[in-house]
Amino acid sequence: MAFVCARCGSCCRYLGDYLAIERESAPFEFACCAVSTGTEFTARIDEDKRALFRDRGFPEAHPHACPFLRPDGEYVVCTIHGTRPEQCRAYRCVILRISRPGGGEIGRVHGTFGLFSDDPDLRAAWEDALRVISLTAPDAEEQLQRFLEKRGYRVT
Ligand code: SF4
Ligand code: SF4
Repeated sequence: MAFVCARCGSCCRYLGDYLAIERESAPFEFACCAVSTGTEFTARIDEDKRALFRDRGFPEAHPHACPFLRPDGEYVVCTIHGTRPEQCRAYRCVILRISRPGGGEIGRVHGTFGLFSDDPDLRAAWEDALRVISLTAPDAEEQLQRFLEKRGYRVT
């Protein structure tokens, strides 16, 4: 299912050590390294975000944030969206939101297939699902959704 990023910036606020700028290679262009994988890449500030990037207030106030993160009105955005590394492209903080029909949300499944829920019935159902569904299956997300829907949950 399609994941829609709310552009809250939460996932990038403590990635300053993960994404290192090695040098400025040209105006608004930086040689960088994704430290966890040792992957080098060139980051270019998106043309429409250069004014945002110039504002040093946010990185000074948030020294552990990714150096390319900046506030933009009500959002907090990546200023190298077009050239961000693979790990950032693949990241989705929430892949499933679970509720009871007619009720509010009672659980979320995060991008690494962790269930976040205090609901004991849902937690039990999740354990049942993990007994029969391999998380390495290419359609694991869809299988989990179908499983929970058969148990009566609403999954979006
Ligand atoms: S991936 Fe999730 S945590 Fe990160 S900015 Fe988007 S909504 Fe926020
Ligand atoms: S490069 Fe962009 S998406 Fe990746 S951590 Fe930095 S701000 Fe977030």
